[in-house]
Amino acid sequence: MNRPIRTINLGAIGQQADAPLPKPDGALYRPPNPDDTRKACRNCVMWVATKDRCIIHRKDQEVDDDQWCGFHIFGQPRKEWVEYEGIAPMTPELSGLRMVGPGAACASCKFYRYQDEKHGLCIGVSDPKTRRPGVVVESRGLCARYEGM
Ligand code: SF4
Ligand code: SF4
Repeated sequence: MNRPIRTINLGAIGQQADAPLPKPDGALYRPPNPDDTRKACRNCVMWVATKDRCIIHRKDQEVDDDQWCGFHIFGQPRKEWVEYEGIAPMTPELSGLRMVGPGAACASCKFYRYQDEKHGLCIGVSDPKTRRPGVVVESRGLCARYEGM
Protein backbone atom coordinates (compact mmCIF):
# COMPACT_ATOMS: atom_id res chain seq x y z
CA MET A 1 0.00 0.00 0.00
CA ASN A 2 1.27 3.45 -0.89
CA ARG A 3 1.52 5.71 2.09
CA PRO A 4 1.32 9.51 1.75
CA ILE A 5 4.71 11.15 1.86
CA ARG A 6 5.06 13.31 4.98
CA THR A 7 7.06 16.48 4.63
CA ILE A 8 9.00 17.88 7.55
CA ASN A 9 9.13 21.68 7.81
CA LEU A 10 12.77 22.27 8.72
CA GLY A 11 12.16 26.01 8.66
CA ALA A 12 9.62 25.71 11.45
CA ILE A 13 12.03 23.61 13.52
CA GLY A 14 14.66 26.30 13.10
CA GLN A 15 12.19 28.94 14.25
CA GLN A 16 11.45 27.00 17.41
CA ALA A 17 15.13 26.73 18.23
CA ASP A 18 15.45 30.51 17.73
CA ALA A 19 12.50 31.40 19.96
CA PRO A 20 12.45 35.15 20.63
CA LEU A 21 13.86 36.55 23.83
CA PRO A 22 11.29 37.50 26.50
CA LYS A 23 9.67 40.91 26.33
CA PRO A 24 10.62 43.29 29.17
CA ASP A 25 7.43 42.53 31.14
CA GLY A 26 7.93 38.80 30.60
CA ALA A 27 11.34 39.18 32.24
CA LEU A 28 9.76 41.16 35.13
CA TYR A 29 11.42 44.43 34.13
CA ARG A 30 10.93 47.16 36.74
CA PRO A 31 11.81 50.85 36.56
CA PRO A 32 14.39 52.38 38.92
CA ASN A 33 13.73 52.63 42.65
CA PRO A 34 11.96 55.94 43.41
CA ASP A 35 14.98 57.12 45.41
CA ASP A 36 17.36 56.03 42.59
CA THR A 37 19.18 53.49 44.80
CA ARG A 38 20.33 50.22 43.27
CA LYS A 39 18.06 47.25 43.88
CA ALA A 40 19.04 44.91 46.73
CA CYS A 41 17.41 43.12 49.66
CA ARG A 42 18.21 46.16 51.84
CA ASN A 43 15.51 48.11 50.00
CA CYS A 44 12.95 45.31 49.51
CA VAL A 45 9.71 45.01 51.52
CA MET A 46 10.26 41.25 51.91
CA TRP A 47 13.58 41.56 53.76
CA VAL A 48 13.59 41.15 57.57
CA ALA A 49 16.34 43.58 58.51
CA THR A 50 16.78 42.42 62.14
CA LYS A 51 17.25 38.77 61.21
CA ASP A 52 18.88 38.69 57.76
CA ARG A 53 15.97 36.75 56.36
CA CYS A 54 13.44 37.09 53.52
CA ILE A 55 9.80 36.20 54.07
CA ILE A 56 9.34 34.45 50.72
CA HIS A 57 12.31 32.13 51.34
CA ARG A 58 12.68 29.46 54.03
CA LYS A 59 13.08 30.71 57.56
CA ASP A 60 16.49 29.03 57.87
CA GLN A 61 17.78 30.63 54.63
CA GLU A 62 20.15 33.49 55.50
CA VAL A 63 19.61 36.48 53.20
CA ASP A 64 21.98 39.43 53.52
CA ASP A 65 21.35 43.08 52.71
CA ASP A 66 23.70 42.91 49.71
CA GLN A 67 21.79 40.09 48.01
CA TRP A 68 18.88 40.35 45.56
CA CYS A 69 16.40 38.13 43.72
CA GLY A 70 13.97 38.50 40.82
CA PHE A 71 11.00 39.07 43.16
CA HIS A 72 12.38 42.32 44.63
CA ILE A 73 9.76 44.96 45.51
CA PHE A 74 11.07 48.36 46.50
CA GLY A 75 10.16 49.65 49.96
CA GLN A 76 11.01 49.64 53.65
CA PRO A 77 12.29 46.25 54.89
CA ARG A 78 10.33 44.54 57.66
CA LYS A 79 11.32 44.61 61.32
CA GLU A 80 9.93 41.17 62.18
CA TRP A 81 9.46 37.80 60.55
CA VAL A 82 5.86 37.02 59.60
CA GLU A 83 4.43 33.51 59.34
CA TYR A 84 2.10 32.75 56.42
CA GLU A 85 0.37 29.46 57.06
CA GLY A 86 0.61 26.97 54.23
CA ILE A 87 2.97 29.03 52.10
CA ALA A 88 5.45 27.10 49.94
CA PRO A 89 8.71 29.01 50.37
CA MET A 90 10.78 30.07 47.38
CA THR A 91 14.08 28.29 46.78
CA PRO A 92 17.19 30.37 45.93
CA GLU A 93 17.41 28.48 42.63
CA LEU A 94 13.90 29.56 41.64
CA SER A 95 14.09 33.15 42.87
CA GLY A 96 17.58 33.74 41.48
CA LEU A 97 18.91 34.78 44.89
CA ARG A 98 22.49 36.02 44.56
CA MET A 99 25.07 38.49 45.84
CA VAL A 100 24.92 41.90 44.16
CA GLY A 101 27.26 43.93 46.38
CA PRO A 102 26.25 47.60 46.17
CA GLY A 103 23.03 46.61 44.37
CA ALA A 104 21.83 45.46 40.97
CA ALA A 105 20.97 47.75 38.06
CA CYS A 106 20.78 47.44 34.28
CA ALA A 107 23.94 49.58 34.00
CA SER A 108 26.01 46.74 35.48
CA CYS A 109 24.33 43.91 33.53
CA LYS A 110 26.17 42.11 30.74
CA PHE A 111 23.22 42.69 28.37
CA TYR A 112 23.38 46.50 28.75
CA ARG A 113 24.86 48.80 26.11
CA TYR A 114 25.48 52.33 27.37
CA GLN A 115 23.68 55.20 25.60
CA ASP A 116 23.73 58.01 28.16
CA GLU A 117 23.73 58.47 31.94
CA LYS A 118 20.09 57.42 32.31
CA HIS A 119 19.51 54.98 29.45
CA GLY A 120 20.98 52.07 27.56
CA LEU A 121 20.08 49.40 25.04
CA CYS A 122 19.32 45.94 26.46
CA ILE A 123 20.06 43.01 24.17
CA GLY A 124 18.76 40.47 26.71
CA VAL A 125 15.07 41.20 26.07
CA SER A 126 13.07 41.72 22.87
CA ASP A 127 10.99 44.60 21.56
CA PRO A 128 7.29 43.80 22.25
CA LYS A 129 6.34 44.77 18.65
CA THR A 130 9.19 43.38 16.54
CA ARG A 131 10.26 40.60 18.97
CA ARG A 132 13.86 41.46 18.15
CA PRO A 133 16.50 42.24 20.81
CA GLY A 134 17.44 45.82 21.48
CA VAL A 135 15.12 47.61 23.93
CA VAL A 136 15.84 50.97 25.58
CA VAL A 137 15.93 50.50 29.37
CA GLU A 138 16.80 52.79 32.28
CA SER A 139 20.27 52.53 33.77
CA ARG A 140 18.83 51.88 37.26
CA GLY A 141 16.02 49.64 36.02
CA LEU A 142 16.28 45.87 36.43
CA CYS A 143 14.76 42.56 35.37
CA ALA A 144 14.97 38.93 36.45
CA ARG A 145 17.46 38.21 33.60
CA TYR A 146 20.10 40.36 35.33
CA GLU A 147 23.64 39.04 34.99
CA GLY A 148 26.21 41.22 36.68
CA MET A 149 29.60 41.77 35.06
S1 SF4 B 1 15.50 37.74 48.38
FE1 SF4 B 1 14.28 38.83 46.85
S2 SF4 B 1 12.24 39.05 47.74
FE2 SF4 B 1 13.66 38.53 49.39
S3 SF4 B 1 14.32 40.43 50.29
FE3 SF4 B 1 15.82 39.92 48.72
S4 SF4 B 1 15.10 40.90 46.85
FE4 SF4 B 1 13.40 40.89 48.27
S1 SF4 C 1 20.08 45.13 31.02
FE1 SF4 C 1 20.00 43.18 32.15
S2 SF4 C 1 18.79 43.63 33.97
FE2 SF4 C 1 18.40 45.29 32.52
S3 SF4 C 1 16.57 44.68 31.39
FE3 SF4 C 1 18.35 43.96 30.25
S4 SF4 C 1 18.68 41.85 30.93
FE4 SF4 C 1 17.35 42.86 32.42
